[in-house]
Amino acid sequence: MTQINSNFLNLQGSYLFSEIAKRRTKFIQDNPQAEIISLGIGDVTRGLPEAVTKAMHAAVDELAVPGTFRGYGPEQGYDFLVNAIIENDYKARGVDIKSNEVFVSDGSKCDVGNIQEIFSTDSIVAVQDPVYPVYVDTNVMAGRSGLFDSGIGRYENIVYLDCTAENDFKPSLPDRKVDLIYLCYPNNPTGMTLTKDELKVWVDYARENNCLILFDSAYEAFITEADVPHSIYEVEGAREVAIEFRSFSKTAGFTGIRCAYTVVPRELKGFDKDGSEVVVNDLWNRRHTTKFNGVSYVTQRGAEAIYSAEGKEQISGLVDYYMTNARIIRDGLASLGLEVFGGVNAPYIWLKTPKGMDSWAFFDKLLSEANIVGTPGVGFGQSGQGYFRLTAFGSRENTEKAVERIRNLSL
Ligand code: PLP
Repeated sequence: MTQINSNFLNLQGSYLFSEIAKRRTKFIQDNPQAEIISLGIGDVTRGLPEAVTKAMHAAVDELAVPGTFRGYGPEQGYDFLVNAIIENDYKARGVDIKSNEVFVSDGSKCDVGNIQEIFSTDSIVAVQDPVYPVYVDTNVMAGRSGLFDSGIGRYENIVYLDCTAENDFKPSLPDRKVDLIYLCYPNNPTGMTLTKDELKVWVDYARENNCLILFDSAYEAFITEADVPHSIYEVEGAREVAIEFRSFSKTAGFTGIRCAYTVVPRELKGFDKDGSEVVVNDLWNRRHTTKFNGVSYVTQRGAEAIYSAEGKEQISGLVDYYMTNARIIRDGLASLGLEVFGGVNAPYIWLKTPKGMDSWAFFDKLLSEANIVGTPGVGFGQSGQGYFRLTAFGSRENTEKAVERIRNLSL
């Protein structure tokens, strides 16, 4: 008899998006004429930048010829992409990252999900609440979470760092010893950020308390304000305590193409059971090269093109497009007296539901009265109750139409 990994039975159903789909399907069945606008799922809608598709076409042609054909590449990524990342994403911001500290991958979802594997299953994990669910679920699979308490909607061994309007979505430091802290900035789902000084508090805490920060920066490209750091390594001392995750998904429309990278500085140390230091970069390198065979050459050439002059201009156009949508939603809802957050340094608008409605009641109201699908905040955690997420990734036309429809609601 083959025993399964019973930790998997401890996972809660992926209730959020299946429940959204169920309610949406039922509504469409009952109202076949309704024209639904989806501002729910965080996928992009614009095409790939031309610089990227041009580079990918050229790379495909290279692969057709024996002299320029490429088979297996370096698991950590080709030098041309790693060097472009280091020069543009780090050196240009005064941050020194070495090529053996960058690991190119097929997505940040995999990286933020896989990273926990190299740490002890006894590690105590802290997450922000509301939270990108991958951080929690991958630790449940690994057996770190303890049981789910359905009364409070939380796992008993996970430390939840509440982020609500009361603390301006800036979590307090953990009130007990933790080993791994997941921080996501700019944040999904709240769209909020930390300043460099605020992030320094976390870096200092991690250095003083021997813990590591797993810094998910998937939305870095959307930062507009000067005091918001683009990389955690802009903070002094972060190289000793932080792993950073970046993705091309939202930056350049790579959600379907798949390319991302993780930075693991050489200074970062963990400890074995005798208390001796272990270089975390070596462990991640070992894991990555054992379980992953590299991102395709064509994809990496496409990612490299993002850093060309033409690519930078086109990406900036994409980001501007989505951030204009964000402003339209944010200003439109604020003018109706709704309390809105995010949307300035991130493509997510997080709103407080009117009149204290719960997140699902507001979902139903928006669907039935305005035919708009958004995401109930409580689906991201208990601290998301009474909030609602709209994304700026739709078309301009739909975004404007959605705001107009909300304007006509009685709220
Ligand atoms: N991290 C956060 C916070 C996200 O919101 C997402 C995607 O929605 C990801 C990571 C996944 O990125 P990727 O497409 O690179 O897997």
